[in-house]
Amino acid sequence: MPSPKRIAVIPGDGIGKEVIPQALNAIRATAAPVEFTTFDWGADRYLHDGTTVPADGFSTLARDFDAILCGAFGDPRVPTNIHAKEILLGMRFQMDLYANLRPVHLLDPSLCPLKSAQPKDVDFVVIRENTEGVYGDLGGVFKKGTADEIAIQEDVNTRKGVERIIRYAFEYCASHKKQDGSSRRRLLMCDKSNAMTHAGGLWQRTFKEVAEEFSQITTEHMHVDALCLQMVRQPSHFDVIVTNNMFGDIITDLAAALQGGLGMAASGNIHPGHTSMFEPVHGSAPPIAGKNIANPAGAILTAALMLNHLGLIPESQRIEAAVLAAIREKKLTQDVGGTLGTRESGDWISKIISSFSSS
Ligand code: ATP
Repeated sequence: MPSPKRIAVIPGDGIGKEVIPQALNAIRATAAPVEFTTFDWGADRYLHDGTTVPADGFSTLARDFDAILCGAFGDPRVPTNIHAKEILLGMRFQMDLYANLRPVHLLDPSLCPLKSAQPKDVDFVVIRENTEGVYGDLGGVFKKGTADEIAIQEDVNTRKGVERIIRYAFEYCASHKKQDGSSRRRLLMCDKSNAMTHAGGLWQRTFKEVAEEFSQITTEHMHVDALCLQMVRQPSHFDVIVTNNMFGDIITDLAAALQGGLGMAASGNIHPGHTSMFEPVHGSAPPIAGKNIANPAGAILTAALMLNHLGLIPESQRIEAAVLAAIREKKLTQDVGGTLGTRESGDWISKIISSFSSS
């Protein structure tokens, strides 16, 4: 028997602490061969002893685990958000999790704000560069607080970073299928090269060069503003999108709206062959935390994405099917038209998964 997959679990703050237990129950209900180790990183630990990430934290995660499942980080008691930055951005940067994977799939027409959109119309994937761009916090402020203040925020694009995310996107496109079973065939690169000519030029040239290795994939390019318009007007246009860190951050929230909102969206932070991290797209949502009203579906679908990444495909599919059943039976939370609380919705989904697992 293969040894169980080792999962590090970091629920974090706010609704992360409510939705992650539901995601773990969903995984347990599949009977997948996994074992969990929970870490207490987050605002409570930081306020208790000043620790954001223990000294050997990231190396332990990389060495001892097959995957990491995170909730969310951010707490009004830590206004600087220092712990969230050190944990989340630290994990992405120091573990070099360069590919942010965001599947955008409408599970049921009732969840989409667009008139008459069907699940087949919203089935694309955004692959966001996760370690460079403006998120490296390079730059500075000069003459702060004066009328002459200058603020510079550098947009870092390295040949290595751009090439590897583009290659990852081509490989993803070549090896993944749509929900209806057909092959993914089109890769669109999104930038703003008409205004940001230096970085855009590097992305354009690299995209063209790597495309030559993937003759079976059709390529396309759009500026980010045009892409936003098209995503609302005709989401069926998209198959796989690759883009930089900031544009990816923005367009994935727009994309989340097409699939039912932040409560339904899952993501992975991936470095192929390394320990990768999975998290729901939503944040810690302080206004709704502790009220048992947060939608657990995003975290549960994130668990499915993680199992899929670990090669536990039938288990992953059972979780997705159970979430679809929950939408159809209105066994979800109020944000998506249901009536249940976080725990009750999670329990319902886990029960359905168990029934699939035993049949
Ligand atoms: P971050 O910057 O960490 O991404 P944010 O403040 O931009 O966080 P969230 O914390 O994700 O955004 O939440 C914004 C709002 O979206 C919440 O206050 C809540 O109303 C809604 N929301 C987010 N996640 C969920 C969820 N799982 N269930 C229900 N509503 C949610």
